[in-house]
Amino acid sequence: MTSNKQPEVNIGLVGHVDHGKTTLVQALSGEWTDQHSEEMKRGISIRLGYADATFRRCPEAEEPEAFTVDEHCDDHDVDTDHLRTVSFVDAPGHETLMATMLSGAAIMDGAVLVISATEPVPQAQTEEHLSALDIIGIDNIVIAQNKVDLVDEERAMQNYEQIQEFVEGTVAEGAPVVPISAGQEANIDLLIEAVQSEIPTPERDPDEDARMMVARSFDINRPGTTWDDLMGGVLGGSLVGGQLDADDEIELRPGREVEEGGQTEWQPVTTTVRSLQSGGDFVDTVTPGGLLGVGTGLDPAITKGDALAGQVAGPPGSLPPVHETFTMDVDLLERIVGDDGGEVDEISTGEPLMLTIGTATTVGSVTSARDEECEVALKRPVCAASGSKIAINRRVGARWRLIGVGTLR
Ligand code: GDP
Ligand code: MG
Repeated sequence: MTSNKQPEVNIGLVGHVDHGKTTLVQALSGEWTDQHSEEMKRGISIRLGYADATFRRCPEAEEPEAFTVDEHCDDHDVDTDHLRTVSFVDAPGHETLMATMLSGAAIMDGAVLVISATEPVPQAQTEEHLSALDIIGIDNIVIAQNKVDLVDEERAMQNYEQIQEFVEGTVAEGAPVVPISAGQEANIDLLIEAVQSEIPTPERDPDEDARMMVARSFDINRPGTTWDDLMGGVLGGSLVGGQLDADDEIELRPGREVEEGGQTEWQPVTTTVRSLQSGGDFVDTVTPGGLLGVGTGLDPAITKGDALAGQVAGPPGSLPPVHETFTMDVDLLERIVGDDGGEVDEISTGEPLMLTIGTATTVGSVTSARDEECEVALKRPVCAASGSKIAINRRVGARWRLIGVGTLR
């Protein structure tokens, strides 16, 4: 049974691989986000696993026991009340997918950091993901100390102390640490209570221009579909501001690369919203929160294979500028986070960097580097407002590693 309430807030699930993120999403939503390949209705899925969960409250029970995801409270034999529907973004734990985690962070309003009580703190991605939250500036955090069913009280307390020490001086300092067992569905009520108080739904201004961060784009037609039956291109992503209605005109930037007389140039693309899908339902209007599917009038050849992933959509003329080169203020980390860290050297002219800005990830080559600022030329342009945060990754050995944060001039 699904409530057709639209999700109103995006919450990231972050933490080390195998610490129980996916199991927790399942306990909260009854969905298994690992099934990326099983496409959602009409072929909309997302590389970041998304699952909606509806938090409810039993009117007859005391808090925190009253918090639940069940529609019926068996103890008091009453139906529960809807509190809010939230959308969980289940970040992959494997560090080669750090870029995916960072682009997901662009659409997170808060995060649950899952830490297993069975291992010393911090594990590599626990540290890396927390730095990413620090960098993107996500400070509404709840820590789920998971798998407490596998440790005795003494180890759970030791682990708790390690967590407190680890988050000291970070964006997660002071965040509630809730001992849970996602596997046994224990203390889920306490976790919901903490999320309700620590990760409020941001205030939205409905008069603001719609702003959609595009995370995926598709062609949903089966091969061989005749022209008459061809469906327009589909965009997947999240609305971060304003409101979008079916029939709205939208512009996408940077748009598409067009060739004219041997010159290539990026041109914005304009189209009409033909359908909107949120919380698994077709709707007439969407507001921020949750995964959004937008059916458009675009030629599906343009949206095929994530071709428009990382772009920004909104009313024509309202979008931030497109940059093929830019200057950013740079704030480097002292050490590379994660295992075999090492110090972070200054950025040097000529070196390639992988930059995540919003949902866009692009490689840039440094054209000029000074102490605290650097200029880059991008392989693919990005649409971003001045002041946007940029996650800076450097190639170290075989992998891209997070080395700092930039701010777009
Ligand atoms: P993820 O990589 O963080 O998404 O971790 P998963 O959710 O895939 O969980 C990794 C493994 O830990 C799976 O085998 C789960 O069944 C198990 N697991 C997750 N949470 C718990 C828990 O609370 N207790 C126990 N005993 N096992 C758990
Ligand atoms: Mg997982």
